[in-house]
Amino acid sequence: MDSLQTEIPVKRLVLVLLDGLSIAAGRRCMSCLAALDEAGQASYGEASSILPPLSRPAYAALFSGRPPLSNGILHNDFPSLCPAPTIFQKAVNLGLVTAAAAYFWVSELCNRAPFIAERDRITDDANLPISHGIFYSCDAYPDEELFRDAEYLRHKHLPHLLLVHAMGIDFAGHKFGADSREYRDAARTADGLLARYLPLWLAAGYAALVVSDHGMDGEGSHYDATDENRRVPLWLVGEVRNMTRPCRLVEVADLIAAYLRV
Ligand SMILES: [Zn+2]
Repeated sequence: MDSLQTEIPVKRLVLVLLDGLSIAAGRRCMSCLAALDEAGQASYGEASSILPPLSRPAYAALFSGRPPLSNGILHNDFPSLCPAPTIFQKAVNLGLVTAAAAYFWVSELCNRAPFIAERDRITDDANLPISHGIFYSCDAYPDEELFRDAEYLRHKHLPHLLLVHAMGIDFAGHKFGADSREYRDAARTADGLLARYLPLWLAAGYAALVVSDHGMDGEGSHYDATDENRRVPLWLVGEVRNMTRPCRLVEVADLIAAYLRV
């Protein structure tokens, strides 16, 4: 990347996807992110996710910038590659380095489907859109381990685009509902992990975009077309905070592409 460095400053971004974080928990429990917002180091806003407000369609929309009806991914149950180019594909096409510590559905959407754990759990292949990956397939995979996986990838590969996809909040929401202390505690845990890692990322020259794919309701579900399921919090941290904040989840891919210039 020396030639890039001599022409324009290299941009690096961590995309943090906090699965299932609602607006209510985002406002109440993410005190570290609120502190950054208050200090002018982050920009907070809220965005509208897709319908149906389910994870696999939302991931596809987030990574490709296309809504479910456009890319054909309308449900969680049908593993397939996202037909539209993802931000990872665009980045790799321009010679940037990509990495992800993420749930295995991300590997299916972006790299290969179906997911074969013995082949895909640890991914190192420069020809794949997510070239370096550590993918988990257990919904109860601890967020703390997940952030360590991401840090391992960051140190080893110095990616221009790193996805950190934590499932702990969604898992607690399904088990206990959005009105529970357990759900809020899972959000607090994620905020604490960001308190630990965001300063390291910023010091290393990264910006960060923290977003959720969908909310959660009191029944422990996020299927219905309600505001509590569909509205999601979004923080732009570091240099990326000066860019126009998206109002819809499908606009996030364009923001990332513009920031990374891909
Ligand atoms: Zn869920």
